[in-house]
Amino acid sequence: MRIYIRTPLVNKSKMIPHTVEHCAGFFNKKINEFFDFSQGLEWEISTDYTCFEFDRWVKYEDMMEHLFQSIKKEYVAYEHKVLKEELWDPEYVQKIYEELLKVFLDPEYNINKYNSVTREEVKKYHKKYYKPENAIVVDEEKGYKVIFEWFNPKEKKSKKLEKRKEKFKFKDNKYIVYILNHYNGENYRKAFFCYRILDYYMYLINRYTNQKYYYQSNYFFKQEDTLFVLVEDADYSKLDKEFF
Ligand SMILES: [Zn+2]
Repeated sequence: MRIYIRTPLVNKSKMIPHTVEHCAGFFNKKINEFFDFSQGLEWEISTDYTCFEFDRWVKYEDMMEHLFQSIKKEYVAYEHKVLKEELWDPEYVQKIYEELLKVFLDPEYNINKYNSVTREEVKKYHKKYYKPENAIVVDEEKGYKVIFEWFNPKEKKSKKLEKRKEKFKFKDNKYIVYILNHYNGENYRKAFFCYRILDYYMYLINRYTNQKYYYQSNYFFKQEDTLFVLVEDADYSKLDKEFF
């Protein structure tokens, strides 16, 4: 089961929502309670939501209560060191995402750099966003069935979709970036489908033509109103144009 909470950036920085994610998911149970309340299987924070995964036998109401209870000050102090370590050398995917945001949206974006934040900032943010009005619970084993939904993720309003294609270079790797502004649900699903197909296409080329073992080379990102589909810069001329 998963709880998704809407957690926007603060002044284009992820530091406060990221600290809140660590503190809200803090495992404060005794170790022998582990199997009664298995919470932190996986947490994930993106630039506009945070996802907490938990076992199916845990009632979602209990999980919500756990996440929404006020954050203890010792958690903030404890997690500072953990965050510093995590952000000391972020993964490639995090670095390339930040670079994309800086280049194509705003140079002010900060996703990976460690900044210290105060306990008050953490508490204020937690109080503002960690509440049922901001949450959706889904059961991914039942085809992402929505179990609890306070707000309806509505289709985007009628701003016209803008598409563009750019070249992008990052650490000696060359990409083509498809940028979609003002996307709606349908555009999102189509873009995700194309990303998966092109990923599989690159796998076949690399594996069976270039004699390479495959590594992930394509990426799919979103930030607020913008989608990015990043694909390895290659010859796609053999793909059926009409299909796309
Ligand atoms: Zn983290």
